[in-house]
Amino acid sequence: SRSIPQSSRLGTIIIICRGLTCTAEHGEHENELYDVIISGGGMVGTAMACSLGLDPNLEGKKILLLEAGNKKVMDKVPDAYSTRVSSISPGSATLLSGVGAWDHIMNMRCKPYQKMQVWDACSDALITFDKENLQDEMAYIVENNIIVAALTKQLENLSDQVRVQYKSKVVKYTWPKSHQVADAIPWVQVTLANGQTLQTKLLIGADGPNSMVRQEAGIPTVKWNYDQSAVVAVLHLSEPTENNVAWQRFLPTGPIAMLPLSDTESSLVWSTSHRHAEELLQLDEESFVDSINTAFWSNENHSELVETAGSLFRTALSVLMPSAGSARQLPPSVAGIGPKSRVMFPLGMGHASEYIRHRVALIGDAAHRVHPLAGQGANLGFGDVACLTQLLSQAAFNGKDLGAMQHLLEYETERQRHNLPMMAAIDLMKRLYSTNAVPMVVLRTFGLQATNTLPAMKVSKSVKNKFLFSMMA
Ligand SMILES: Cc1cc2nc3c(=O)[nH]c(=O)nc-3n(C[C@H](O)[C@H](O)[C@H](O)COP(=O)(O)OP(=O)(O)OC[C@H]3O[C@@H](n4cnc5c(N)ncnc54)[C@H](O)[C@@H]3O)c2cc1C
Repeated sequence: SRSIPQSSRLGTIIIICRGLTCTAEHGEHENELYDVIISGGGMVGTAMACSLGLDPNLEGKKILLLEAGNKKVMDKVPDAYSTRVSSISPGSATLLSGVGAWDHIMNMRCKPYQKMQVWDACSDALITFDKENLQDEMAYIVENNIIVAALTKQLENLSDQVRVQYKSKVVKYTWPKSHQVADAIPWVQVTLANGQTLQTKLLIGADGPNSMVRQEAGIPTVKWNYDQSAVVAVLHLSEPTENNVAWQRFLPTGPIAMLPLSDTESSLVWSTSHRHAEELLQLDEESFVDSINTAFWSNENHSELVETAGSLFRTALSVLMPSAGSARQLPPSVAGIGPKSRVMFPLGMGHASEYIRHRVALIGDAAHRVHPLAGQGANLGFGDVACLTQLLSQAAFNGKDLGAMQHLLEYETERQRHNLPMMAAIDLMKRLYSTNAVPMVVLRTFGLQATNTLPAMKVSKSVKNKFLFSMMA
């Protein structure tokens, strides 16, 4: 349960010596006390480490990043694209730019796109977002390993502020006890697989969807597995195109997305039933490519009733708003796939009902996991990083204990207020589009068509986005 920070004799001694190196008590690195330990160096944990390391108010704080895997450096960008990519929102690009990683990303590899077309396989309904409506780049497709490599490069420049230990799997956390308990340690103790123990005033859990921090802290989590897996692959297009559109079509079995990587290559994220995903992995390359083209182009799920209703509704809208709506574009056709590029991931949703405990905060997938249909998982995590950095910076400026509940509660409130509506909308969208029952299809067809006419009403991007979610969810 959430206890209010207690002062203790040991705590007082160490707080007094804050600013000095506190290693003398326990010897170098053994039982060493840190101000912040981040557990998990994926995209979100590594961004957190950079962000804290760069904050002027946190200068002199002892910060450690622990990652179970190897250091992910990239001296030379490989010719072949990686299958794991993320659509990075302008907000996340700003965060990555603020921590000095965006320039590295741009120098390595990244594809901006200006337009997105989302359409329903069961009707003619579609919605487009383009630069006319949205002034800047809509988002960027970046390979996950490039994001981590760029952040890792930046961490090397911050070696005076942040220590990093790779191949350091945490196997146990011991939580601070009340000061009434004799010999109680007021900090979180972290035990590594090699037997090393460390202590921290604040533990940040960035250890992914199966977070050990979350589980060991006993934080209740709402979670379920979807009846879907995502098949990802690198796609070779039939011919070079400008390729600046992200395409997503909702099939009754799940959404299929084609995200631009270059003029000739795109990334596939095809969410479908587990069995179908396994079949897709077994297909020879030619049949796999045929399945992708069919999924994007075929009208086999259209029904006469839905088409008539949709067309009547479109006519009514065009009378009300004559210049409304964006024209349908056809996605590029696929000719082949990258070598050994097909992989599948089971999909699920999870939300920690608490993001914090005394001396503990969860960020990224450790706190929330979403379906990839909206490309938001890592973006939500980068939002956590920005928010937590700002609150810890303020706490440090005011001379507060970084692990105290006061500012951690602010972090939880702010992020849950942002993340929960987004997560609910993504989950409902997944459910709404997982059916081809006619009343549902008609409802979402009307919703999508009406929303697509909104630019003519001169609404802002955020209003349009909210409306899109409310119509679809
Ligand atoms: C198919 C697919 C497509 C996606 N597309 C997008 C997209 O377009 N846009 C987007 O924003 N998001 C997308 N996502 C979501 C995104 O990939 C995740 O939200 C993101 O990777 C979460 O990052 P993370 O750092 O929180 O967790 P993770 O990437 O899971 O990293 C956790 C890290 O913690 C380390 N770790 C775990 N346990 C320990 C331990 N005990 N000790 C030490 N280290 C430990 C692991 O080694 C790992 O490096 C997609 C997801 C999928 C599955």
